[in-house]
Amino acid sequence: MHRPAPDSFDLPCAGAQPQSSPPNRRRLLQTLASAGGLAALPWSAWAAGDTRLWPQDSRVPGGVARLSLGPAAQRPFAHADGTPLLVVGDMIEWTAIVGIPLSAQPGPQHIQVQSGATTQTLAYQVRDKKYTEQRLKVSPKTVDLAPEDLARHERERAHQQTIMERFTRPATEDAALRMQQPVPGRRSSSFGLRRVFNGQPRNPHSGMDIAAATGTPVVAPLPGTVVDVGDYFFNGGTVWLDHGAGLLSMYCHLSRMDCHVGDVLRTGDAFCKVGATGRVTGPHLHWGVMLNRTMVDPALFLPS
Ligand code: ZN
Repeated sequence: MHRPAPDSFDLPCAGAQPQSSPPNRRRLLQTLASAGGLAALPWSAWAAGDTRLWPQDSRVPGGVARLSLGPAAQRPFAHADGTPLLVVGDMIEWTAIVGIPLSAQPGPQHIQVQSGATTQTLAYQVRDKKYTEQRLKVSPKTVDLAPEDLARHERERAHQQTIMERFTRPATEDAALRMQQPVPGRRSSSFGLRRVFNGQPRNPHSGMDIAAATGTPVVAPLPGTVVDVGDYFFNGGTVWLDHGAGLLSMYCHLSRMDCHVGDVLRTGDAFCKVGATGRVTGPHLHWGVMLNRTMVDPALFLPS
């Protein structure tokens, strides 16, 4: 759940780790070529596996792990305890792009991979990341919801849960996953910020706030379909886009929503406008990116 936006803006933070590298692919291609297995492989298969087109690998709570699944004739099915995962690549090397929950504990994590008749468990390590904690003393009135507001919020949370559980085929198989920033402006590094009001911990801030004036057009960062348009208690005017395979993005506090459920957008298409609706301190865009039902740091999807 999204909480009021922090006031401070500074540079975004994003950890990066080396990942399954092109040289590995090159060696594998050479092996396949020398074995005579490459004749029918189109050049586009190379491009589809270009790791520069994928989000950065950052194996921390709220980050993204790019896990190599190796070669296979067909796209493997990967899941994390039953939640299906985004799998990209080609027959040379498939890669699971896994969202790591902000609530994940540092240490070993696992995904399950089904490829043909084979099922295997793949382990990876999540590193610790200390997100900033803010302890605030505020008037109880500002944190305790009235019963009718609480009831409204619970209804809205149940509805949004159904949006988050979507897993659809992407419009374009293996399209690039690097995103365009949806509005120009200063980005906050407040993803993961933990707030404690009067000693009570709140959900951490699960998106990126971008400073922009009311009325600034917001554009689609990737091709996607509008799957929810609503006015919510905390988030105000809100739109969700589905980019396929469990990759969704969310836009909050909007002043205008110039779109309808079912609209299909290309990268760069304007579909709503920045505002200050819902529980906010001023106009800005709250931008959330979700992978396998997990809010992850949007900065990992932007050009570094
Ligand atoms: Zn926010």
